[in-house]
This record gives sequence, structure tokens and C-alpha cells, in this order.
Amino acid sequence: MEAEELLKELAISMLGDEVLPVLEILLKKKGELTDDEIARILNVKVNNVRRTLYILSDHGLVRYKRTRDRETGWYLYYWRANTDQVNDILLNRKREMVQKLKMRLEFESNNTFYICPDDGSRYIFDEALENEFKCPRCGASLVYYEGDKVKEIIERKIKELEEEINNETKAKVS
Ligand SMILES: [Zn+2]
Repeated sequence: MEAEELLKELAISMLGDEVLPVLEILLKKKGELTDDEIARILNVKVNNVRRTLYILSDHGLVRYKRTRDRETGWYLYYWRANTDQVNDILLNRKREMVQKLKMRLEFESNNTFYICPDDGSRYIFDEALENEFKCPRCGASLVYYEGDKVKEIIERKIKELEEEINNETKAKVS
């Protein structure tokens, strides 16, 4: 996939469709634009554009260069899309995912689960105890839930991601 498409997809998956108009203007421009210029092109308030730009920048999708206007003394922000850093953004996302999966794995390992055989809802021991081992949704008796399958799946996913991260990091160094 092209870097531009990848950046757009990342933006949608992280932040939703609302950020797209601003991002697309920057992608089309393939260079720098000020918030004022973007606001004019989109015909929206500059404050809205600024807010979107800061959100995009928080997630590493755009960046800016700041210069001082000699006449007014005001700062001007020139924004551009981070198409050249899309691989780093992806890599960071994978690292974050690994962190989340590891936390999830810890949670799975440190808890005992009970499951409702009728509707499949799952409860940790404390919740099951509170409800006297009856499903709070339908009243069926909860049964002990073997969590090894879930842990296996999480462990496999972590391994997969770590291998990808390794390969991509190596590819960059060489
Ligand atoms: Zn139930």
C-alpha cells in the first residue's frame, strides 16, 4: 500500500473520519500549509482546523515547522503530513498493541473465570461469587472456565507482533 493510503487508513482507525478533510488537503498538497490556508480551502473556521491538526499531531500523523512572521511578530505554523514516517507510526502502534496484549495476558493469568453456559458471558471469580455463581443476566449456574485457550491465542499474537517488530527494526538498520 502507498504511504498516503496507509496514513489515511491509520488516521481513520485511530481517530475516525472527522480528521480526514484536513489530512487529505495536506496529502494532496505534498508540502506545507498553514492552518489559515487549510481553513480557507475547506471553508471552515480556523479553530476547527487547528484542533484537528493538534489531534493529528498528537498521534504522529502530521508535523509542523514554526517560524516567526517578521512584520507581525506572530508565529506561523507550517503543517505537513507525515507520509515519510508512516512505517515508524505503524511500528509504534504494534509496540503499543504488544503492551496491551501483555496486560491482557497478565489479567487472564491472574484471574479465575466463570462462564454462563447459556449466553457465554464471562465473569471473574469475585463477580461470580457476588452473584452466588448464578449468571446475573439469565440466572443459569456459572461453570468454571478454562482460560488456557484464550491465553494461547494472546501469546501467539504477541509472538507474531514481536517477530514483525524485530524484522522491521532490523530492516531499517541495514
Ligand atoms: Zn447467562
